[in-house]
Amino acid sequence: MNLILLGAPGAGKGTQAEIICETYKIPAISTGNIIREALKSGTEMGLKAKSYMDAGQLVPDEVVIGIIKDRLAQDDCKNGFILDGFPRTIPQAEALDKMGIVIDKVIDIEVPDEKIVQRMSGRRVCEACGASYHILYKKPEVEGVCGKCGGTLVQRKDDHPDTVNARLKVYHEQTEPLKAYYSAQGKLSVVEGQEEVADTTKLTLAALKA
Ligand code: ADP
Ligand code: ZN
Repeated sequence: MNLILLGAPGAGKGTQAEIICETYKIPAISTGNIIREALKSGTEMGLKAKSYMDAGQLVPDEVVIGIIKDRLAQDDCKNGFILDGFPRTIPQAEALDKMGIVIDKVIDIEVPDEKIVQRMSGRRVCEACGASYHILYKKPEVEGVCGKCGGTLVQRKDDHPDTVNARLKVYHEQTEPLKAYYSAQGKLSVVEGQEEVADTTKLTLAALKA
């Protein structure tokens, strides 16, 4: 099953992607995580992406399209995959089509902007492995410590409130048109993001079975 998760930054795509990954045994691919990894390793691509990311802007299409092309060519994607954070623009979606990749379903997780701003301020990520937490909604067992690898939890630079507003603007202008793009192909399912992660998960899994 080839899946796309759509939604505003902080709508909970990453969390849902992880659960689908465990349930369906297909890899969850996050372009944001791949770019942050590249940044940490100090690659040229990572350095190029940094200024865009820090400002809450999108990294240029050709950069992320290149990343996805390489990633989807890997062996573990043979039986399907979940894209979390890609495509984010119409040209990125068209690039997937041109690669001959057939998408089965697109799950759009809807959360109102006010909620997003509230949520983002509580989001924390593991410095070491990139796992994502929330101080209210997805607490780590030990405060400030990653339950997966023991790494330190930090706030992402681009999760600071001023940058969040810039990211929401980018989302509405550049990413939201993808809803119409995939709806026209009959592939879009809308899931209303719930207060409790488990409730959103139920809706997501139901949408996948529908
Ligand atoms: P979120 O958790 O808010 O959905 P991500 O971790 O997916 O954010 O992405 C963080 C940043 O990485 C984005 O603001 C953008 O700068 C860059 N990025 C990630 N995916 C893409 C993409 N498909 N196209 C362009 N930029 C991207
Ligand atoms: Zn970790």
